[in-house]
Amino acid sequence: MSKKYVGWDEVSQGSVLFSFEEEFNALEAVHTKQEDRLYADTNSFKAYVGDWRVVKPVYNRDICIDCQNCWVFCPDTSIVSRDKKMIGVDYEHCKGCGVCVEVCPTNPKSLLMFGENEDSDEALAKWPEKKKKSKE
Ligand code: SF4
Ligand code: SF4
Repeated sequence: MSKKYVGWDEVSQGSVLFSFEEEFNALEAVHTKQEDRLYADTNSFKAYVGDWRVVKPVYNRDICIDCQNCWVFCPDTSIVSRDKKMIGVDYEHCKGCGVCVEVCPTNPKSLLMFGENEDSDEALAKWPEKKKKSKE
């Protein structure tokens, strides 16, 4: 049977959009890597939803201490981390809110916001120096 797709304004009130395919036990998701989960077509993981972002977080591996703050606080699960090692940002889903930058504790920060069209290598070349502590 072919699937029928409907627009967001055609969905009936009270409809339930399931996150996973029926054969995938949702409880397993906790122990399954994001890319290995059997997401249903109605889950936004399968969609590119970062296209209205105007600023993006750029990640600097040289400074990061893998504290995982950004991973914990990102409201959109867009920080990619494996085995407690920060890997980078999932730009297909990141909305550019800047929360990850706010919670990053390093000096200078290991994530900084840049314009959406900024080249990542150029952004890294502009990274600020470590701030000296004031004696006051
Ligand atoms: S900018 Fe916001 S959505 Fe994007 S990775 Fe950072 S916290 Fe997540
Ligand atoms: S919050 Fe900063 S230091 Fe911590 S893992 Fe994220 S990028 Fe690295």
